[in-house]
Amino acid sequence: HAEKKTIADLLRKYESLLTLTPQRMRMIVHAIEETLDKGLQKDGQIVPMIPTFVFGWPTGEEVGEYLALDLGGTNLRVCLVDLQGHGKFEVTQTKYRLTEEQKQEDGQKLLDFCAECLDNFITNTLGRTENDPMLPLGFTFSYPCSQLRIDHGELIRWTKGFGAPNIEGHDVAAMFASSLKRLNVNAELTALINDTTGTLIASNYVDPNTKIAVIFGTGCNAAYMETAGNIPKMSSVGLEADQGMAINCEWGAFDSFDHQHLPRTKYDIIIDESSNKPGEQSFEKMIAGLYLGEVFRLILCELIDSGDLFLGQNTYKLEKAYAFDTAFLSLMESDPTDELLTIIGVFSHFFGIETTLEERQFFRQLAVLIGTRAARLSACGIAAIVSKKGYLEKGCAVGADGSLYNKYPNFANRVHAALVDIFGEKGKRIVTHHAEDGSGVGSAIIAAMTKARK
Ligand code: ADP
Repeated sequence: HAEKKTIADLLRKYESLLTLTPQRMRMIVHAIEETLDKGLQKDGQIVPMIPTFVFGWPTGEEVGEYLALDLGGTNLRVCLVDLQGHGKFEVTQTKYRLTEEQKQEDGQKLLDFCAECLDNFITNTLGRTENDPMLPLGFTFSYPCSQLRIDHGELIRWTKGFGAPNIEGHDVAAMFASSLKRLNVNAELTALINDTTGTLIASNYVDPNTKIAVIFGTGCNAAYMETAGNIPKMSSVGLEADQGMAINCEWGAFDSFDHQHLPRTKYDIIIDESSNKPGEQSFEKMIAGLYLGEVFRLILCELIDSGDLFLGQNTYKLEKAYAFDTAFLSLMESDPTDELLTIIGVFSHFFGIETTLEERQFFRQLAVLIGTRAARLSACGIAAIVSKKGYLEKGCAVGADGSLYNKYPNFANRVHAALVDIFGEKGKRIVTHHAEDGSGVGSAIIAAMTKARK
């Protein structure tokens, strides 16, 4: 066993692969900033910087009752949002389950189902009848759509496991409006929005110091407020130069295809090449909840193959792609016991594997490295927007949402530490906080802002 690597050797190896120095982060910030600028200049760029037709910040005085429908992943959520002004609101909501089949069946049928759930909510939960006035509706549809107006959005491509045919390339808003009409639903589609934009507006409604929103869930994306004069690709639309326009960055696509800027490891490359969209979403694949557990699993598989881990044990359960959920990394990092009993449980219960204390300590450290890298990379994205918009001097708040942000221990602290590494002490002026409900409240505020403009 003389040549067998010690756990300390292994840890050093992964530390050097997964650690981002402040200098490296500053280079990445610079590259992201350039990429964001490119996306504003021309259509069809890798990071598309989508203008959302949300014109400027809410006043905080938006009031009234609005419906919000959220189609974003596992559930379909319908809300009635009562905006009360002064940044206050009340929400009544119901969730409807979406089956795997529904995600793959005909696009119009999927939207018809959404309309049926909405109708059920209006009639049964709210007890409204067709004689009641029609409520305006904000539809949160969190897949990349190119927009020409707030109530228009052509689905560029499905993401996050959806595959319903006959909807990519079509105007989702028009299709949904036709479902509402055909099923005689007492609601009027006012705005089609993305969850990042909703999060930006909802967080700013409550705290006007919030200038950026980031989602850390299954995927990773951000939105911020630009001025029309800084969006050359929109110059033909004829907006005033100082007109605000929320931008859905779709920054998950940063460094896709040419892979020049991000320090991808061989594990990131395996994840990419075995994904259904190789080459795409490079930044997201190093950060988002869907992938972090897989980075950990691939490292363990490498150590199983080299004979450094679990010799003589049956490891087939761990060898299945995506078997190790990112939630396990959270659990391992938050294990409060000296013996690391939670980690014993994760490995024995889910994978039928016995572990030594030394191995468990190593696993926890590995989780720290992977989680920290994700937090530091996303800090680079935030820093790019901060630096582009000159928010460092006065400081600003960043509304953040998604399971990775909300549940991964220390994620926020690590983002904050990285911002200080990038900007020095001034980095402390940029503070993330748990965002307001973007797809419910945000969508209602946007619907209210849209009505006010009409
Ligand atoms: P979505 O982005 O689909 O709207 P979420 O924000 O809940 O939903 O994100 C889901 C992702 O978060 C999944 O990839 C999952 O692996 C990850 N996740 C779920 N629970 C946790 C947790 N406790 N810690 C870290 N990641 C988690």
